Amino acid sequence: MLKPNTNYANLKDSYLFYNISRKVNAYLEKNPGAHLLRLGIGDVSLPLPGAVIKALHGAVDDQAAKQTFHGYMPECGAPFLREIIAAHYNKRGVDINADEVFISSGASDELGDILDLFDKFDTALIMEPAYPAYVDANIMSGRRIIHLSAGKDNGFLPSPPKEAKADIIYICSPNNPTGAVFSREQLKDWVDFANRNASVILFDAAYEAFIEDNALPHSIFEIEGAKECAIEICSLSKTAGFTGTRLGYTVIPKGLSRGGMNFNRMWVRNRTTKTNGVSYIIQKGAVAVFTDEGQAQIKENISVYKQNARVLSNALGKLGIWYCGGKNAPYVWMKVPDGFDSWSFFDFLLNEAGVVGTPGAGFGKCGEGFFRLSSFGDPEDTKEAAERLVNLLR
Ligand code: PLP
Repeated sequence: MLKPNTNYANLKDSYLFYNISRKVNAYLEKNPGAHLLRLGIGDVSLPLPGAVIKALHGAVDDQAAKQTFHGYMPECGAPFLREIIAAHYNKRGVDINADEVFISSGASDELGDILDLFDKFDTALIMEPAYPAYVDANIMSGRRIIHLSAGKDNGFLPSPPKEAKADIIYICSPNNPTGAVFSREQLKDWVDFANRNASVILFDAAYEAFIEDNALPHSIFEIEGAKECAIEICSLSKTAGFTGTRLGYTVIPKGLSRGGMNFNRMWVRNRTTKTNGVSYIIQKGAVAVFTDEGQAQIKENISVYKQNARVLSNALGKLGIWYCGGKNAPYVWMKVPDGFDSWSFFDFLLNEAGVVGTPGAGFGKCGEGFFRLSSFGDPEDTKEAAERLVNLLR
């Protein structure tokens, strides 16, 4: 008799965003026409850069003529995009070849799919609070999770554990939800830990473009020894506004092997079986992100979000509230004032100030007592929200 994947029964309901929208709808019913200031979203609000739009239009026209039409694209990505991404790494001093870069439809897809490379008896170490997909994807495949707590005392940047070992290690830096960023030295400790234990690091670099401090690493491959123990998963979603356009890339160095199996070769085999690649049009649009013009334009967009983050951080600074993130990341992670937990603070902000954020408890137990503010919103709304926050909590 057919046996479904009963691991799905072990998933918790995706309570966080459901509960937020339920509470927001109830508020709007009671206060029709109220202008809510939404700092809860992880979605971008600015349109695609002009260089990308131009490239997308050009690619649409290519598809209209027999001589320039493209059908199926190579499963691992178009060489023109793999090459320009590898060159982007090379410019930063990271020696990556085009055939180590795999094009995907986004980091979310890839974070789930990449688990095909691992055995279901491998253990996964997840630092918490965490992006919920890491936990859920491993529960779905029945893998044992080792939760590593992060907190205010370690700036939400935990060190490798002394006792526990793990096969797969998730690192997200700059972090969602905390906005904390690992230094080179801290990442080196994790790379050494992974190489000592024959683990593999899954490095989520979705927010690398928000790093402004030159001392901080954008890529795990800036760290010595990482090419022997890490896979990097990246996305143009937050870098270039591709949340609805969809494009990501994954770097698997050819030197990464475990148990006699080579991960780059395995991923080629996986992709050539399980996907027919990303559309020609979108890949052409993505190329424009890596041109000089595209890089200048995405920096302009990111600077708008960064200004939002400064406005929010300044408000918390004025109030003397502890927070991290907001400088090299789009998220500001604040401690909720005494007397609140993260959900009661959510209700208080919504009902008293019309401001929507994200309760930290939604990112795992260690997030309780904290609250995430996103800088991806409208600048005027963000200023207004910061003022309301100061007036309410002063
Ligand atoms: N990784 C992290 C840490 C994220 O916060 C997100 C999206 O919010 C993703 C991955 C998914 O990105 P994508 O839009 O490329 O699927």
